[in-house]
Amino acid sequence: MSQSGAVFQSYPWLAPQWSQWQQLSYRLGHAYLLSGPQGIGINEFVKEVAQVVLCKQPNNGQACSVCSSCHLFISNQHPDFFELRRLEDKKEITVDQVRSLLYKLNETSHQGGYKVVWIEGVEYLNQSAFNALLKMLEEPAPKTLFLLSTHQVDRLPATIKSRCQQLNFMPPAMPDAIDWLHKQSQHVDEALVKRALRLNWGAPLQALQWIEAGLFEEDSQWKNDLKQIQSGRKTASQSVGEWLKWQQPERVFDYFYQWSVSAVRSVMYQTNPQARTVSNGQIQNWLRFQQAVLTAKQNWLSNANKELVLESLCLEWLSIQQSEEPLESVFQSRIQKGKLA
Ligand SMILES: [Zn+2]
Repeated sequence: MSQSGAVFQSYPWLAPQWSQWQQLSYRLGHAYLLSGPQGIGINEFVKEVAQVVLCKQPNNGQACSVCSSCHLFISNQHPDFFELRRLEDKKEITVDQVRSLLYKLNETSHQGGYKVVWIEGVEYLNQSAFNALLKMLEEPAPKTLFLLSTHQVDRLPATIKSRCQQLNFMPPAMPDAIDWLHKQSQHVDEALVKRALRLNWGAPLQALQWIEAGLFEEDSQWKNDLKQIQSGRKTASQSVGEWLKWQQPERVFDYFYQWSVSAVRSVMYQTNPQARTVSNGQIQNWLRFQQAVLTAKQNWLSNANKELVLESLCLEWLSIQQSEEPLESVFQSRIQKGKLA
């Protein structure tokens, strides 16, 4: 994105937030919190806002794209734009990172205007880093703007939230998202566009990335493997071995989760009770399986044996294919095995 104002032209569902920002920025505060799901354009929005604030000759709330400041910004070299996020291999943002940011901020502004700080994934600050940030927000330096972004606003301490003006972002309505994705990838058929959106929680940018990265091949591999596991031509362990080679094997959880959502939905929205071919027991199994997927994902994230977590989940899936009756305890016990191992 290099043209100003492009953020809501490129991503029309951000228009309400853009006009909200215009109103809020009429009297520019010192800290804003932007929250919402991943893959709907929050990062792009932040960059747009930062460019406008740093622009030397903004017009109608939009950056000019031609001044020296805009040039620096567009080429990712603006000395008064600071970005802070988790380092690639780290689980949190440390207090040292915040301190070194503070040190840089104390130097004078290079361009004589605002300094803009973007903390991406502010929920990853650890406790002492939060305290350090809180101090900065409590005693705001002049002409310094903090843009904090998060996909998990519930994880933020109230003390941080209360010191920021908040902008909340929502994914677009499904038909709008489908329209948008079609325009971006015209060669892709409707079924795949819908699948991409469902697997990515309706987040259009993430869905687009999923399509462009060819992840539908993984998706089909997963479906094929399940069929083969069910027919006994492949073991769960063989399939899991292949899934673990994917760049993001944790996507399997999304696939399983969406499978259970679709399974339940197909029955729930069946208006003719005669046409119901599935028992209530089976529906309960699917709902329970949904929970099992979430638990398995948590176990995965808490460093359980990855192979076992996935294998257990496959076996859970297999057992609900074969069972008409609610499975009370099996889920818990098997998933825990994955964790303990
Ligand atoms: Zn400019």
